[in-house]
Amino acid sequence: MESKTLLPGRKAKAWVERDAAAVSPSYTRSYPFVMDHGRGSEAWDVDGHRFIDFNAGIAVTATGHAHPAVVRAIQEQAEKFIHMSGTDFYYPVQIELAEKLNALVPIKEETQVFFTNSGTESVEAAFKLARYRMGCPRMLAFIGAFHGRSMGSLSLTGSKYVQRKGFAPLVPGVTHVPYAYCYRCPFHLEYPSCDIYCVDYIEETIFRYLIPADEVAAIFVEPIQGEGGYVVPPPEWHGRLKALMDKYDILYVVDEIQTGFGRTGKMFAIEHWGVEPDIVCMAKGIASGMPIGAMVARKSLMTWEAGAHASTFGGNPVCCAAALETIRLVEENLMENAARMGQRIMDHLEGIKDDHPSIGDVRGKGLMIGVELVKDKETREPAPEIRNEVVQRAFEKGLLILGCGPTTVRFMPALNISQDVADEGLAIFEEALTEVEKEAGL
Ligand code: PLP
Repeated sequence: MESKTLLPGRKAKAWVERDAAAVSPSYTRSYPFVMDHGRGSEAWDVDGHRFIDFNAGIAVTATGHAHPAVVRAIQEQAEKFIHMSGTDFYYPVQIELAEKLNALVPIKEETQVFFTNSGTESVEAAFKLARYRMGCPRMLAFIGAFHGRSMGSLSLTGSKYVQRKGFAPLVPGVTHVPYAYCYRCPFHLEYPSCDIYCVDYIEETIFRYLIPADEVAAIFVEPIQGEGGYVVPPPEWHGRLKALMDKYDILYVVDEIQTGFGRTGKMFAIEHWGVEPDIVCMAKGIASGMPIGAMVARKSLMTWEAGAHASTFGGNPVCCAAALETIRLVEENLMENAARMGQRIMDHLEGIKDDHPSIGDVRGKGLMIGVELVKDKETREPAPEIRNEVVQRAFEKGLLILGCGPTTVRFMPALNISQDVADEGLAIFEEALTEVEKEAGL
């Protein structure tokens, strides 16, 4: 086995060169990891190097890499039939999954499911349904939000300008408002007592000066902001926001694409806040890596007629089988493991916070944990160079992690990560952080 200090290895280097010639340069690779195979939370590259995987395919492989039960479910369905188009015909596995999602979603009223292939399509479906049902054109979304990259969802995304640059005009009618990013609250000088002023701001400023509330169909909100920096809102926030939206008859669309299916220690993250949404968007962790998503809405909202919206691949039977098995495993014990291991990782990170001059904030729920790095704990000056170097250095030492937001490192391993593997990854993270802090003169 080649030394990790020589990463990428010979074979990986050759693949990266071929990729550069053949694949779109718009992809965002932080380091040259070229995967050969994986098991659980471990992954091996094409040169035989072993890595601890804290990414889980960007919060997707909920059951770890190649979980044998999920592999079996995929094989068994593929042997029966691979595709039939669930929007034109019927097959039991799609109906079973719809029934399961309707049972799980935290909405008391009856719900129905629209199947998609990805997160962005789940958001598009919600966008279209909200417009169709409410008969008004405007949407609210958040600064720092990530909802996807197709035109409707991109219009809601407000995470990095590179994602929007060059693509204007986007879908009109979207207004972005500040998220409850308490570590960097834009209102903290004017409203030091907080009282969740960021919600009042929508009513007092946005609805008063910018847009009539009765033209707004829906607000799109991540229960915990993901791509924007793993930002966890305070306990009162979702409740206050929902009450405001109810006052103006605006749909509460919760994007659980990154947070859903046990990742935060509950089936859906919004359950931590006890708020009942109108529509829930899902994808990522639902099927352990098979491409499927869903938009689940109150039945009373699903008034669109046959032909109004559909998708050839949405609800593909192999993906549905993988989803049913994934959900079974998540319910069996993975959600509980996510809560337990998440707490362990959070406790560890909280414990090392004072020893590290660059750790400004540790936050998260379950296995969705962010460590925000700063140049100075007092001024909270962001430290993107330090964050990027830590991610790079961790890779060289055998840990796959990624950043999110301008200056945060995110931990989002598979829900079945073991204590030993988690501890091994944490040790590598701390070693990388210590080295980079020293080099930065902190
Ligand atoms: N919404 C959220 C919260 C996400 O994290 C993502 C992807 O990162 C998306 C939507 C878009 O999902 P996809 O990349 O499957 O289109």
